[in-house]
Amino acid sequence: MSKVAIIHCDDYEYDKVRSAVNRGLELLGGVRQFARPGERILIKPNLLAADPPERCVTTHPAVFEAVAGAFLQHGVQLSYGDSPGFGGLNKAAQKSGLAMIAAKMGIETGNFEVGERLIFNEGIQNKSFVIAQAAARAQGIISLPKLKSHALTTLTGAIKNQFGCIPGLLKGEYHAKLTEMKQFATMLVDLTGCLKPRLYVMDAIMAMEGNGPRNGKPRKIGALLFSSDPVAIDATAARMVGLLPDSLEMIRIGQQYGLGRMDKEALTLLGDALAPLVITDFQLAHARTMARLTNNRVRNAIVERPEIQEEKCIRCGICIQVCPAAPKAIQWTDEDEDGKPGGGKPPYYDYDRCIRCYCCQELCPEGAVILRTPFLGQAFNRLKPPVI
Ligand code: SF4
Ligand code: SF4
Repeated sequence: MSKVAIIHCDDYEYDKVRSAVNRGLELLGGVRQFARPGERILIKPNLLAADPPERCVTTHPAVFEAVAGAFLQHGVQLSYGDSPGFGGLNKAAQKSGLAMIAAKMGIETGNFEVGERLIFNEGIQNKSFVIAQAAARAQGIISLPKLKSHALTTLTGAIKNQFGCIPGLLKGEYHAKLTEMKQFATMLVDLTGCLKPRLYVMDAIMAMEGNGPRNGKPRKIGALLFSSDPVAIDATAARMVGLLPDSLEMIRIGQQYGLGRMDKEALTLLGDALAPLVITDFQLAHARTMARLTNNRVRNAIVERPEIQEEKCIRCGICIQVCPAAPKAIQWTDEDEDGKPGGGKPPYYDYDRCIRCYCCQELCPEGAVILRTPFLGQAFNRLKPPVI
């Protein structure tokens, strides 16, 4: 049986969060179950981008502080970090409020620039990974995912959180090479199996719905989840937002290959009740059609595609920089007389090259990239069994 502790917590007032964290940890047997005094443990929050806590893009600093505090009290040596989708760790840590807390508590910033290859012979598909040094050399990892909608994987939670242990632009290579959803989800399962975080504490006090994982809307759920089983905690989070766990490829594959358990019969829920937290109108990012169809014509007719809302675009070019397709599927129109890219126009897409990884949608700082389902895709979605 896998255990998931659910602790209701209304907001990020620190005393409430600390008491929720302490209660959740105690229900799983206490901090001593996850680390010994003197061990070097990495805390891996979600630091997708340099955004303030109220935007709900990143793990909230109060959750980080409460979890870190519990482990420090136990005599554990902590470091922390993540490899943001764009821009460096320091900037994201500053803006999200984590850097200040870490400095106050004497927690070191881990090295997420340099990678080291880890061999993982047990991998179903990926037998090795280049992992950020901080994660590769830590004796253990505590993963602090944020619950958000995600254009590619539907939700981002515990299994997806380890993708940030792959340094910098290497992440784009995985998007470019693993062009089918099943392959990408299998890679996430292998990566999580390779890194084996000892504990997951999911920040679902304020989740994100809609155009996630960066530009959606905050949505209150009011809970923290705790588990050492990434499949169980993601399955519980999926149920909380009204989704069938096996409709998410990474959860289904995770159970299939033994990463954890998603079936209700295999889970012991501890702490507070799940039922009052369940919401049935949680908005997804809409990209749920067969995202990785390889035939261009069929794909363009059916699969959600990214589009730029011109009035929101500030012409920063981040979408072009992060596009992993080769050649790039998004580019400036031309050079204007001042040598500025795009001649004042937003970038444009070449949908035949676009692999629908949605990195441009994920990392646009202005929320200017939305996903639109072509007419045939809408008809196709109506034929599919409901996810919610
Ligand atoms: S779409 Fe977004 S990321 Fe791309 S140039 Fe415009 S604002 Fe920047
Ligand atoms: S254009 Fe956007 S969705 Fe298409 S491949 Fe590039 S980053 Fe991915």
